Amino acid sequence: MANGQPRTPAVGDDPREPTTDVQPPGNKVWFRHLDESVIEADRCVQCGACVAACPSDSIGIAESDRRPTLVKMCTGCSRCWDSCPRAGLRYERLPVLDGADPTDVADGIGTVESASAASAAEGVDGAQHGGAVTALLAALLDAPDGVDGAVVATESDSHGLAAPVLATSPAEVREYAGTLFTQPLQLDRLADLLDEGDLPDDPDLALVGTPCVIEGVTALERSPYREERFDEARPLEAIDLTIALTCTQAFDDDGLEHVLAGEYDLALDDVARFDLVGQGIHIETTDGGHERASLDDFAGAVLDGCLECADATGQTADLTVGTVGSPQGESTVLVRTARGQAAVERAGNALEASELDDHGPIEQLAEWNAGRAREAMARSFDPEGDVWINHADHRDAYDDTDRAPVAFNPARVHQYEEWC
Ligand SMILES: Cc1cc2nc3c(=O)[nH]c(=O)nc-3n(C[C@H](O)[C@H](O)[C@H](O)COP(=O)(O)OP(=O)(O)OC[C@H]3O[C@@H](n4cnc5c(N)ncnc54)[C@H](O)[C@@H]3O)c2cc1C
Ligand code: SF4
Ligand code: SF4
Repeated sequence: MANGQPRTPAVGDDPREPTTDVQPPGNKVWFRHLDESVIEADRCVQCGACVAACPSDSIGIAESDRRPTLVKMCTGCSRCWDSCPRAGLRYERLPVLDGADPTDVADGIGTVESASAASAAEGVDGAQHGGAVTALLAALLDAPDGVDGAVVATESDSHGLAAPVLATSPAEVREYAGTLFTQPLQLDRLADLLDEGDLPDDPDLALVGTPCVIEGVTALERSPYREERFDEARPLEAIDLTIALTCTQAFDDDGLEHVLAGEYDLALDDVARFDLVGQGIHIETTDGGHERASLDDFAGAVLDGCLECADATGQTADLTVGTVGSPQGESTVLVRTARGQAAVERAGNALEASELDDHGPIEQLAEWNAGRAREAMARSFDPEGDVWINHADHRDAYDDTDRAPVAFNPARVHQYEEWC
């Protein structure tokens, strides 16, 4: 504030200047830096990692746009910045830290112990493809040494957006089969889901998410601040198995509603099922109708930050499940870790699977996706670089580009004055 009057800073100003006359220590990174560089810059992919990372629970999700927002005092600890795959987290470094070959990370599909085309032995109503995710989770929820719960997604009551939900029985997880193409923000609600769920004291959970969500979980698990942030009570400690859904883009809530209404005269509630098929989208409506849509029509609904994502195949997960690479009606299951392998073994006959020798289609998808990301991102893409990208280096790379930080939202100035 200058002379008692708030002012909106120009991009490129020191973002701390307008809110305080006292310069905080130079090594502090505040939520407002994340806000300007990612959220206001429309690069947020709604993974929720920043919310889960904050040791003082200072970040929540705004109801208006389902983006992170400050809800109480920020201490400038930088954990949100360090956990964000569009800011301080060099997400492509994570698989290499776990032993993946940097070349495979850059243009391939990372570490894969085995790959199969799989489907649910008993069939799953409403499954997106082979029902492999649901069948696997149902079997693990049933097995004595499986999992106590699975964090999956369902449609929110209000108007068809994705919301996280905890399933603790095979029947429940079957209820939530199918894909939602918006983000459920499960890392924001994790603590509540654990509190509300019928779970033992020290539960083992499986978590399903898009690759960026799993990157967040992996980064937090590996964080040097883990001890400080994640004592036994922290919900991330409960995650015992991560399942990434293959993903090249997710939709923004408002953008999706806008395209559906404008192009197809549909509300989100009218959509029974979406699927990405080649270069198109198949929309099935609740009244039994079908629409074939062009992916181009939905370009305006894609989360802009997804264009900077080179992790279509979820390289940091225990298991990745998608459809590309398998025959129609089956799911492609990539086993990446010992935890993933153990889960598949425990699921036993719940999956009918045949080995996939040809990884070509999945590799092509990954290569295309990585090329798109390298073109879109202003920073260098470097699987061998430092895992953390500091704020100054981010500004050097992104300032004066079309992905430059945007001066913080004037509507939030009062929050920053009080809390940052
Ligand atoms: C945004 C998005 C984009 C995708 N794009 C591709 C693609 O380009 N190519 C490809 O091969 N596959 C893609 N997939 C994955 C694909 O749609 C299926 O989810 C996958 O093949 C698993 O099918 P299944 O029949 O085995 O799963 P199912 O048995 O139907 O189970 C799916 C599970 O995932 C949970 N779930 C659904 N949506 C979400 C979500 N948004 N976040 C977290 N959990 C969720 C469900 O609750 C359920 O438990 C995408 C998925 C998402 C979410
Ligand atoms: S991309 Fe993820 S970590 Fe970054 S601001 Fe958005 S929700 Fe937070
Ligand atoms: S494309 Fe990448 S950033 Fe976007 S939702 Fe999928 S995994 Fe997340």
